[in-house]
Amino acid sequence: MASTSTYDENLAAAAEHLARFATSPTLHLIGGQPTSSMSGATFTNSSPIDGMHLGDVAAGDAADVDAAATAANEAFPAWANTPGTERKRILHAVADLIVERANQIAITECVDTGQTVRFMSQAALRGADNFRFFADRAPAAADGLSLPAPDHVNYTTRRAIGPVGVITPWNTPFMLSTWKIAPALAAGCTVVHKPAEWSPLTAQLLAEIALEAGLPPGVLNLVHGMGETAGKSLTEHPAIAAIAFVGESSTGSMIQAQGAPTLKRLHFELGGKNPVIVFDDADLDRALDAVVFMIYSLNGERCTSSSRVLVHESIYDDFCERIAAKMRNVPVGHPLDPDAVIGPLIHPRHFDKVCSYRAIAESDGATVHEGTPWADAPAGGTYVAPMLFTDATPHMRIAQEEIFGPVLTALPFRDEADAVEVANDIDYGLAGYVWTRDVGRAHRVAHALEAGMVWVNSQNVRHLPTPFGGVKRSGIGRDGGDWSFDFYMETKNIAVALDTHPIPELGG
Ligand code: NAD
Repeated sequence: MASTSTYDENLAAAAEHLARFATSPTLHLIGGQPTSSMSGATFTNSSPIDGMHLGDVAAGDAADVDAAATAANEAFPAWANTPGTERKRILHAVADLIVERANQIAITECVDTGQTVRFMSQAALRGADNFRFFADRAPAAADGLSLPAPDHVNYTTRRAIGPVGVITPWNTPFMLSTWKIAPALAAGCTVVHKPAEWSPLTAQLLAEIALEAGLPPGVLNLVHGMGETAGKSLTEHPAIAAIAFVGESSTGSMIQAQGAPTLKRLHFELGGKNPVIVFDDADLDRALDAVVFMIYSLNGERCTSSSRVLVHESIYDDFCERIAAKMRNVPVGHPLDPDAVIGPLIHPRHFDKVCSYRAIAESDGATVHEGTPWADAPAGGTYVAPMLFTDATPHMRIAQEEIFGPVLTALPFRDEADAVEVANDIDYGLAGYVWTRDVGRAHRVAHALEAGMVWVNSQNVRHLPTPFGGVKRSGIGRDGGDWSFDFYMETKNIAVALDTHPIPELGG
């Protein structure tokens, strides 16, 4: 999984790739043209590595969103009517260029977000996989069902819903945006993308790559800016038929309200506080590795992270000790260092939030275990050592709230029923993980968990044809496989009479 480049090579690559963002402002891409904000406004983008100013970014508002939505609307008929085979060809060309520029994307992502290169090099390639997966399905995206009735032949067909808005967060932003944009384009939709203001750079690379790969101007537009201005305007724009949103649950609520007057179709991938249930009969070595990986990889800034570990009381102390021992060996460091696992958190505000849970845990009566801080952390960097909270109880804030950092809360449980009750006693329901060698129990618990996805004896291993999404405050709708096309397309039923059915005669 580690990057093959050395630390020094990565630093040199960063100097090369980041220079352009420092020398001239990062602009919107509207109708294929790099475009300043009409107001001329910009915002400052800084690196969490050391607070260094990476450059200025155009700050979009309603006028810029209107221009982008208009461009997407104008491009829509031609793109929706482009044969699926041609869409497939262009989207594969996008994937080819992502692979070609994977190192640039990974390095840029590391500097912009603080995620470490050992994971980001894979995330860039996963972005290419997302494009290939949906490209291959583009030719059959409009296919429907044959539903014959006694007097009619019914058949369904699908068509792209229209221009859509895609709003993405700052954790693994490149990969996540491809997960939304690739199926939308494959379905025949045009897109206006509003990336997170804390991590705007790789969205720029994706938009440029798409244009270079032959995507017609206006099919993928990019508007930078704040959520409350650019994001809000996108959710309210009448030309935008649907919003695919990934972010916090509270932002999802706001978007639902903002989209109501124009009856937006909405797809939400929101927060999580995902339980890993470890029974005493599990393969504890594998369970331990999975637990540690799922909370301390990607800085713990991961919606499917295993942020609550529920351990059977008979093995709780021992298992927690083993987690703590491994945690102390998880290296914190510069995100471009191939040996680093945990890099700086995205932003000082998020850093403060994550760190605040140490005091919350202590005042609520939990025990705090802390990993090894990075001794050479540069001033201005937002580095935290990984944390583990033990002696926690289910209603403590550390067991209920999404912390979104390398912070794990460990809870003991008595038996299967207790484990399920604790796991479900929360507002979130994104993912769940179950570790047991008892096949019947594995199925029972998997069925009982209130979650959109359950992995048994596994960490999160994605298979793109499977549905991805959450229940409760973790989301609405599913991505993956054909579920994505169901969101980005409208289904139409066509009923053709066989001329055998009676037609009521009115009026003589
Ligand atoms: P956020 O909700 O603060 O921001 C996400 C995006 O929404 C940003 O682009 C932001 O500018 C925009 N936004 C903010 N207010 C808006 C508004 N009123 N109208 C329209 N857009 C608005 O989320 P974040 O802090 O960037 O990301 C972290 C969150 O994302 C976590 O809760 C995490 O669990 C969640 N997430 C979920 C998944 C999933 O698949 N379920 C995946 C990744 C991240």
